[in-house]
Amino acid sequence: MSIPEHIVIVGGSVAGARTAQALRQQGFDGTLSVIEPETGEAYDRPPLSKQYLSGQWDREQISLIPGGWASINAKVHQGWATALDTKTKRLELSTGETLEYDTLVIATGLAPRRLLADDGKPIGHVIATASDADGLREALSFGGHVVAVGGSYIAAEAASVAIERGLTISIINRQPQLLGRSLGPVVGAHVTKTHREHGADVRNNTRITSIARDGEAAILTVIEEDTGLEDTIRADVLVSGIGSTPNTGWLASSSVRVDDGVVTDARCRAFGAKDVYALGDVARFYDVHSTTGRRVGHWTNAADQATIVAHNIMNPESPEGYREYPYFWSDQFGKKIQVAGRPDADAHVEFVTFDGPTPRTVAVFSHGEEDECAAVVTFGWPRGMVAARRLMPLDPTSAEMLEELEKFATGHPASAKLASA
Ligand SMILES: Cc1cc2nc3c(=O)[nH]c(=O)nc-3n(C[C@H](O)[C@H](O)[C@H](O)COP(=O)(O)OP(=O)(O)OC[C@H]3O[C@@H](n4cnc5c(N)ncnc54)[C@H](O)[C@@H]3O)c2cc1C
Repeated sequence: MSIPEHIVIVGGSVAGARTAQALRQQGFDGTLSVIEPETGEAYDRPPLSKQYLSGQWDREQISLIPGGWASINAKVHQGWATALDTKTKRLELSTGETLEYDTLVIATGLAPRRLLADDGKPIGHVIATASDADGLREALSFGGHVVAVGGSYIAAEAASVAIERGLTISIINRQPQLLGRSLGPVVGAHVTKTHREHGADVRNNTRITSIARDGEAAILTVIEEDTGLEDTIRADVLVSGIGSTPNTGWLASSSVRVDDGVVTDARCRAFGAKDVYALGDVARFYDVHSTTGRRVGHWTNAADQATIVAHNIMNPESPEGYREYPYFWSDQFGKKIQVAGRPDADAHVEFVTFDGPTPRTVAVFSHGEEDECAAVVTFGWPRGMVAARRLMPLDPTSAEMLEELEKFATGHPASAKLASA
C-alpha cells in the first residue's frame, strides 16, 4: 500500500475543505483536485441560517480556508461530478472533463427538499447555499409576514432571525413540538415556548393541504391535526426547512454502495469500491457505539471525520476507526442551544434550572437502571457545555453529570431545581 499521487475530493464544503487541509497538514505533497459546483472560496454553512442571514456576518467571516484553496495548493474544478467508474478510477464532470484519481473522497453533502405549490412547482426559499441565504435576506428586507415550514433547526433559526428583524412569523410544524424529533418532547416543549414568548405563531401538529400562488406571495391552507380546524395563512416570505436528501444521484451507475447515503465502514472507506472514502453529511458510516450504519447531518461529525479520512489515506498501514462524540448546536434568539450525546426521544429527561448568579437551564437524558447519561442540552451556557463535553467520554451517570453541572453553575452542589421531567 502506498500514498496516492492524485487525490480527488468531490464537494468543497466543510468535509471536503477539512479533508484537504488535513491532508496537507499530514504531509501530502501530491496533486489535490476539488470538484465543486459553487463559485468562490469554500464557506461554512451553519451561519447561513444565523449570523449570515441576519446580516451580522459577511462572506469573508464564513470562509472555511484562510487564504483560500490556492493557499493549500488545491486545484478547484468548478462543476458537478456526474458519473464515476471505480474500475478505471475515472470521474466525469458536468464540464465535459474526465479526471483520473488514485484516491477519491466523496463529500457531497445533502440537498434540501423543496415545498411544492399546488401547480406542482417548487415554491419558497430554502437555506442550503450562501446565495439561498442572500435571496432570503433580501426577501426579508421587504417586510411582510413570514411563514417557516418545518419543525427543525432551519425553520426555527429562520424564525428567530425574522423576529429579530421585526417581522411577524408563523411556523408550520407537522410534529408535536419544535425540534421535538431531534431533542424529544421535553426540550421540544421548551423550544416551542421560547419561540411563542418571542412572538412566533407556532402551529405544531399542523399539516399543509394547499399552497396557492398569489403574485410573489403564497396562500397556505393548513389543518391542525388535533382539532381538525382549517386555516389559511398568507406568506409574503415562505421558507422551508423540511429536510434534505444525500447528494448521491451521480453515483447511480457506479459500484459504490448507496443506501440513504454512501455506506462506509468505520474507517470511512466506501463499500463497493477500492480507494474511495466518504464522509460528512452524505456518508452512512458504521458507528462503533450503536453497531449500525448512521448518517449524521452535523458540522462536528464532518470535521472530525475529515481528520480520520486524511490519516487513513496517509497511513495505509495503520488506519484508524472513527468514533463519534456527537455534538451540535443551534443559535436562536441570541442564545446557543448546544447538544452533546444522543438525545433519544424515549430517554428519561431531567430538565433542570440551577440557581446561581445566572440561572442555568440544562436537560440531561439518561437510559436504563444504570442511569447512563445519554445526552446533555444546554441553553445559552457555552461554559456548561464545555464541562459536559469533558465529562461525556467518561460515561457518567446522569446524576454525576447533573452534579458536575450544578457545581459549575452555582459553585456548590445541592441547589438543583427540578423544573419538569
Ligand atoms: C443553513 C444550515 C445551517 C446549519 N446549522 C448547523 C448548526 O448550527 N450546527 C451544526 O452542527 N450543523 C449545522 N448545519 C449542518 C452542517 O452545515 C453540515 O453538517 C455540514 O455542512 C456538512 O458538511 P459536508 O461538507 O458534509 O456537506 P455540505 O456542507 O452539504 O457540502 C457538500 C458540498 O458538495 C457539493 N456537491 C454536491 N453535489 C456535488 C456533485 N455532484 N459534484 C460536486 N460537488 C457537489 C455542494 O455544492 C457542497 O458544497 C447546518 C446546515 C445548513 C445548510
